[in-house]
Amino acid sequence: MAAAAELASRGIAVTVFESAKQLGGRARGVLHGSTQLDNGQHLLLGCYRETLRLIELVGGNIGQDFLRLPLQLDLHGQFSLRAPRLPAPLHLLVALFRAHGLNWAERMKAVRFMLALRRMNFRLPCDMTVAELLAAQGQDADLACKLWEPLCIAALNTPVHRASAQVLLNVLRDALNRSRADSDMLLPRLDFTALFPQRAAAYIERHGGKVCVACGVDAIVPQQDGIELVTAQGSHSFSHVICAASPAAAEKLLRPIAALAKSVEQIGNLEYQPIYTVYLQYPAHVALPHAMIGLHRRFSQWLFDKGRIARQHGLLAAVISAEGMHQDLSRDDLARRVVAELRDSFGIAEQPEWFQVIAEKRATFCCSPDLQRPSQQTALPNLLLAGDYTAGDYPATLEGAVMSGTACAWRVLSARK
Ligand SMILES: Cc1cc2nc3c(=O)[nH]c(=O)nc-3n(C[C@H](O)[C@H](O)[C@H](O)COP(=O)(O)OP(=O)(O)OC[C@H]3O[C@@H](n4cnc5c(N)ncnc54)[C@H](O)[C@@H]3O)c2cc1C
Repeated sequence: MAAAAELASRGIAVTVFESAKQLGGRARGVLHGSTQLDNGQHLLLGCYRETLRLIELVGGNIGQDFLRLPLQLDLHGQFSLRAPRLPAPLHLLVALFRAHGLNWAERMKAVRFMLALRRMNFRLPCDMTVAELLAAQGQDADLACKLWEPLCIAALNTPVHRASAQVLLNVLRDALNRSRADSDMLLPRLDFTALFPQRAAAYIERHGGKVCVACGVDAIVPQQDGIELVTAQGSHSFSHVICAASPAAAEKLLRPIAALAKSVEQIGNLEYQPIYTVYLQYPAHVALPHAMIGLHRRFSQWLFDKGRIARQHGLLAAVISAEGMHQDLSRDDLARRVVAELRDSFGIAEQPEWFQVIAEKRATFCCSPDLQRPSQQTALPNLLLAGDYTAGDYPATLEGAVMSGTACAWRVLSARK
């Protein structure tokens, strides 16, 4: 949708084929009865500049669509860091100096680490795991566990012993080192389908394009002077095609095209990490102390109070990112653990009226060191790949997906000149 909106803004009449009945992919709205949820609670950062630009391009209003919080990390009762209103990167350095839950030596080590990263321009001579980088930079186990591990899992959805240090540094560079607003955390007040893709569809149609939902592409057939897409409703020919399906779906579509063997192999080599979101509807008076709060060494890694974020009072979301012991539990057992953690940590004695566990087993690719991700440009000049898994600086995030989409749009535009 990012690629299509960008092309529409340059006067190109695009056609979008979406196999699902609803737009949004992994970041889509989901209904539970009459309660609007998302396929998983999402968080954006202020440095997601392309995503925020496109939301505004298609008619969104960042000020109204999000609850915007200055950088703050709270692990309930264990650790807390809040960035003061100072220019970047001073805001972070002061926040680290004042962090609660670290002793003086740990704070100094964290500050020295950030200064070392700045000196290195956030570039490593060779990639390694985040765990290796933390050890090399003298970040003690307690410091790593309270600060860097939660950050790494939130940003890369990959545990520190498997995560790429370079990709984490790319995110830290953009979020912490440019302007203070880049480190803000943005929590959407709208569901994800309404936030971007629905508006983008209306924008694309206003600009002469078409968005066809429940209309999946069954085959991509390269031709002499273009590309044919085969759908259940018929075949359609285009000068250029951007394949923006998830990696597994893209692999299936590209496999029959011999020239794309390299892209297919790279997609096939990707491994995946899960994200579980447990939504719990409590009576309306139940609330958390903050809109977003973490728990230390519990199943619930981050808890979100949808009452504070989107006026959905009593609705809480517990997010459990990356692989772990939670995968061995049934959904009911996992929800029961989250209920017990909410009771023990915040004294919430009530039982939820209902809960829903959304388990995305292939939420994102596993962002390991030196990962070979397929380029947006395939071996066929008029067939491009867009998606969070394609080559880029970012891990599997909204911004990674959007940057990949707009990069494809620019390639198409320059090829048409
Ligand atoms: C639970 C969860 C929580 C997350 N939290 C965050 C977060 O907090 N912050 C963040 O930045 N990122 C987060 N992410 C990651 C983010 O959602 C993804 O990186 C992003 O949505 C990927 O977008 P995409 O367009 O690359 O792929 P997708 O969203 O997978 O979109 C691919 C689309 O292609 C369609 N499709 C598939 N096959 C076909 C076909 N044959 N024909 C036509 N259409 C087809 C699919 O239906 C889908 O709509 C989260 C992901 C999950 C699952």
